[in-house]
Amino acid sequence: MKKVVKFGGSSLASAEQFRKVRDIVLAEESRRYVVPSAPGKHFNGDTKVTDLLYQCYYAAANGEDFSGLMKQIRTRYEEIIEGLELELSLDDEFEKISENFKNRAGSDYAASRGEYLNGILLSAYLGYPFVDAAEVIRFDGNGEFDADTSNCLLGKRLEDTPNAVIPGFYGAYEDGAIKTFSRGGSDITGSIVASAVEADLYENWTDVSGCLVADPRLIQDPAVIDIITYKELRELAYMGATVLHEDAIFPVRKAEIPINIRNTNRPNDKGTMIVARTCHRPDYTITGIAGKKGFVAVNIEKDMMNSEIGFCRRVLSEFEKQGISIEHMPSGIDTMTVIVHRDEFEAHEQQVLAGIQRAVNPDYLDVEGDIALIAVVGRAMKSTRGTAGRIFSALAHANVNVKMIDQGSSEWNVIAGVRDEDFEKAIRAIYDIFINTQL
Ligand code: ASP
Repeated sequence: MKKVVKFGGSSLASAEQFRKVRDIVLAEESRRYVVPSAPGKHFNGDTKVTDLLYQCYYAAANGEDFSGLMKQIRTRYEEIIEGLELELSLDDEFEKISENFKNRAGSDYAASRGEYLNGILLSAYLGYPFVDAAEVIRFDGNGEFDADTSNCLLGKRLEDTPNAVIPGFYGAYEDGAIKTFSRGGSDITGSIVASAVEADLYENWTDVSGCLVADPRLIQDPAVIDIITYKELRELAYMGATVLHEDAIFPVRKAEIPINIRNTNRPNDKGTMIVARTCHRPDYTITGIAGKKGFVAVNIEKDMMNSEIGFCRRVLSEFEKQGISIEHMPSGIDTMTVIVHRDEFEAHEQQVLAGIQRAVNPDYLDVEGDIALIAVVGRAMKSTRGTAGRIFSALAHANVNVKMIDQGSSEWNVIAGVRDEDFEKAIRAIYDIFINTQL
């Protein structure tokens, strides 16, 4: 059994957290490759080291004095070193980093030092070799992750290295210049390493006990999802559920390696397994609910629209011309609605509406700018009768008017459009009917 274990920023924010991490890693021999984030928030109101590094670098790049910020960053690491009683000095590292900041080594280089230094600390603490991600994670000339070269480099480097610490979040171009993934990208590194070493499991340790059925800001103490498929997770993540960087799914998914989301502060909780497919019967008919506000519905009506060949295409091409992507498109016999993101649509609103007017001469054209979309996702929905009925009767009982309904052809995803102001109420009503009534 071979596992890759990734620890997020809050799991490595202090000496106390480092101790928990070591206990977890050493508890199982199979936890062979460890991918750390930079120290995150240690307490409410604290700043992540990555954010401090960006601030510090911008000061340096503007020719301002950055020594105070650099000192603050250094203190974060030194407190950990002292707390763990490690025989380790970062003097040379900080000297080099300050020099490179002065020489404008770039914001990617700057941000990557958070993970780099944390990797050095963790490798000293665990007694595992340190493998610099710059040597094994490769980006191509267009700044895209180069999976083939990275797999090859990682495979070779780790072949005879049974244990290692590989910092997350960054890699390098062929010439050695550092490049980071987008924020939260250590999740991606963990996934890449897991796929390169053909791990049996990718454990992603964070500060929650797994993926939750609904947003904890809306539902108090929501249930934890035991098992979720990649597809379901993707659907929920797209609609705003955050637990993992969305690009982290692809490398392991391709290799069919499951991900286990775990809680560093509650290591006995089983967390959530994210898998390609499963015969495991979920506890509830739905796996999760997620949603977002901020959509616009463009409603178009025209008699005999259905018999006008190319009607939809002409409408949609007006959005395409303005570079607006389409979210959903429910339609009736003589009506169609196009749902788009408000921030993409707003700036081009008048051109799109005038374009539609010219292109199809509708009988009625109107926009509604306060639409929220809610996705109810669950693989068990396909084989359960009455799910849609329950969703919409729950919404009706909660006095929520449904503006739009869209059931994906896969039958495990129902999208409901409601008014922004009904959003929270709608999520609570759906959660209640499926989770609190235990069906
Ligand atoms: N430290 C980086 C960030 O804050 C990457 C990560 O934590 O995954 O975004």
